[in-house]
Amino acid sequence: MNDEQLLRYSRHVLLDEIGIEGQQRLLEARALIVGAGGLGSPAAFYLASAGVGNLVLADDDTVDLTNLQRQILHTTDRVGRYKAESGKQTLAAINPEVAVQALTQRLMDEALDAQVAAADIVLDCTDNFATRHAINRACVRHRKPLVSGAAIRFDGQVGVFDLRRGDAPCYHCLFPDGEDVDEVNCATMGVFAPLVGIVGSTEAAEAIKLLAGIGTSLSGRLLMLDALAMKWHEVRVGRDAGCPVCGGRPAHPPAS
Ligand SMILES: [Zn+2]
Repeated sequence: MNDEQLLRYSRHVLLDEIGIEGQQRLLEARALIVGAGGLGSPAAFYLASAGVGNLVLADDDTVDLTNLQRQILHTTDRVGRYKAESGKQTLAAINPEVAVQALTQRLMDEALDAQVAAADIVLDCTDNFATRHAINRACVRHRKPLVSGAAIRFDGQVGVFDLRRGDAPCYHCLFPDGEDVDEVNCATMGVFAPLVGIVGSTEAAEAIKLLAGIGTSLSGRLLMLDALAMKWHEVRVGRDAGCPVCGGRPAHPPAS
């Protein structure tokens, strides 16, 4: 790190758990953030300000006036622009050192697979089950840690699926697809503005911890927040041996 970096990141370097080595790991890391909305906004803000060196921000949507109540990456004068590009502009203003790639297409199939393969960590900040399951399948395939968040009305949840570990559950172990899940979204149900900030910031915290290699991650636990009562609940989640997505993978990763 040069002198300016030592200053910019000094409050992280001061933390014994992070220090210069941990900060260096962040600078060299690459994170994929899928979704530049309510959850992706605070997540991307903190990854960029904290110096995660390479960010890929993917969102095919454009900024709408109804987003601005909570999607803090975006500004009033950017209504109509791609969220990924608006987000990139905001992040560059906070920390021009971070390389941000803005993807304005819906990340699916081969493109999703390639981005997950290239990432050190993946943050699911999307709002629909089809994309969530596609991201999970790619993370299982490439054994990448997945940080997943969701928020609707006053209810939020955060989970980590550290798929580098053979004993870790995947998203599908917890939320099987194929069931008749009612797709709920903020457009019809509403969402409490600071809730997405809390959940997205928690996703950023878990991602930074995993990238720096510090602390105990949420892997194997699901945190649920009732923001109306301001109560957190935690449930343990285990791997489903019969899971069709991750069931076939070995308990121990191949030696490399
Ligand atoms: Zn699974």
